[in-house]
Amino acid sequence: MSREKGRDPRTMHGIAASPGIVEGKVLVLRRRTRSTGWAHLPPEHVPQEVERFRQAVDKAEEDLVSLRDQFAIDLSDALSIIDSHILMIKDRMIVERTADLIREHKINAEWALARALGNIKRKFEAIADPYIKARYADVKYVADRVFGILSGTGGDPLTDIDEPVILVAHDFSPEDTLRMRSQNILGFMTEKGGITSHTAIVARSLDIPAVVGLEHVTRQCVTGEAVILDGFKGQVHINPTLDRQRQYREYRRQHREFSDEVVFYIHLSPETRDGYRIRLAANIEMVTELDAVLRYGAEGIGLFRSEFDYFHGPARPDEEAMYGTYRQLLAALDPLPVTIRTLDVGGDKFVEHLSTGGLRLDLERNPALGLRSTRYFLREPAIFITQLRAMLRASAHGTLRILFPMISSRNEWRRVREILELTKKSLTAEGVHFSPDIQVGIMVEVPSAVVMADSLAGEVDFFSIGTNDMIQYSLAIDRGNEYVASMYEPLHPAVLRMIKQTVDAGHAHGIEVAICGEMAGDVMSVPVLLGLGLDELSMRPSALPFVKRLLRSSRSTWLTELAEKVLECGEGGEVLRYLEAQLPMLYPEEFGNR
Ligand code: PEP
Ligand code: MG
Repeated sequence: MSREKGRDPRTMHGIAASPGIVEGKVLVLRRRTRSTGWAHLPPEHVPQEVERFRQAVDKAEEDLVSLRDQFAIDLSDALSIIDSHILMIKDRMIVERTADLIREHKINAEWALARALGNIKRKFEAIADPYIKARYADVKYVADRVFGILSGTGGDPLTDIDEPVILVAHDFSPEDTLRMRSQNILGFMTEKGGITSHTAIVARSLDIPAVVGLEHVTRQCVTGEAVILDGFKGQVHINPTLDRQRQYREYRRQHREFSDEVVFYIHLSPETRDGYRIRLAANIEMVTELDAVLRYGAEGIGLFRSEFDYFHGPARPDEEAMYGTYRQLLAALDPLPVTIRTLDVGGDKFVEHLSTGGLRLDLERNPALGLRSTRYFLREPAIFITQLRAMLRASAHGTLRILFPMISSRNEWRRVREILELTKKSLTAEGVHFSPDIQVGIMVEVPSAVVMADSLAGEVDFFSIGTNDMIQYSLAIDRGNEYVASMYEPLHPAVLRMIKQTVDAGHAHGIEVAICGEMAGDVMSVPVLLGLGLDELSMRPSALPFVKRLLRSSRSTWLTELAEKVLECGEGGEVLRYLEAQLPMLYPEEFGNR
């Protein structure tokens, strides 16, 4: 890689969102502004304008077809969604109506399309059925593609990339990140974001190196510039010097060696030297990650974030599609447990889809504290009953555990359980078979659930601690906000005490307590979590061998001591300093030369 002429080498520091080191050329994606401004056309330009519009529709259709071909191999669920968009793009209500408006009013195609879309929107708004109403999102999605082509901002910037690049943008949604599976996207960097934003979580799950929270990075980089992205340290080196390039070649070699070495642990039992055993499970978002779950030797799925699979296209899958996905997960892992979480929507996830479903989540002032996950469940039970039916039916094919997120009170939990019981009853009445042994649990991630854990523990089969949210809600730090990212401290004693309180309450009632937040895969936190007595740690699949190696080098006595000590600390910095002093002595191989 050569240095770009005239541009200086520089280093930017951000948040290490997803590990890995990549080197390549930058592609800056600017925020696209869509101009639908009105323009009156001289009569002789009208046929040309209609033709320009038709060509844009054809191009949008072509793009969708090629997108469909790309997904065809491994994402059969996405196919039906893309197919429905291919049909929709040629719909008379869009194409003929827009062409008529251009001719009748002698206006530009963008303005005519916006008017046609406005009419369609009003028609959808008049429909009572929330599911059909929500289909407007699909119409808007295809129309946006046409708008993009008309205004020259392109169709979908993530599908038009034909050489390996490192993407730079203000922000990516979690859905954008899912679509980065293409070989050509080596990594990405953004201005926005925090370590446990869902965009960062998806990047880690898919092993896409990423650095987020890089202030003004879209202005600091130019498309085509060379860059080294270090997702371990959260640094990016733009126009790196030859020395820097050499240094990173060496880092990458060391990292490869280390990764090859830990692969050895995949088939070993997850236990300490003195026989204390826990379950190491995987967190996944998409059924296509099953391969990684099996490859890295997970003993189950500790968290399937069903909302990603549910919403990775602009349309909502039906019961059959969800049943197909869940069945595939359960059958692949059978008899190991598969924990499927009900939709955890709202917050930083999928607001656009939901805003068309009747409730305007996009208008919420404070979405993280608003109608998120189970609260949304209780407002729109029909959506969730469909999901529960799919889960229950799939339970016949393996060991299912159902997990309900964001439970904040016993009353809320009882209402959820009632809906679950009613759904079971209706399936029984229909003669549909499901397993009689499904475990149901709740995520403990809201401080009120921690305080009331002893009361909740008697009513569920297991707890799963969501530290990503527990940290956000207990320390009052938005998990996706780069300005307060340095205050997002997983090892804050307040967080550690909450974990301990939850574990103790669960164990006093004889139920298992898991952790499925990002801390479970963080090697610095793992010895503390083991010492706090968790029964299961669930993490991104590629972290499993590293955590298992740590577990197998441990002794339960020193883990307990470590946990006791950190619980006495007065602040997060003190915990860190203590661990930085202790861990290299306890684990010389893992922490010795850090
Ligand atoms: C959590 O909050 O820790 C968790 C695992 O769930 P999510 O990151 O999807 O909110
Ligand atoms: Mg959560």
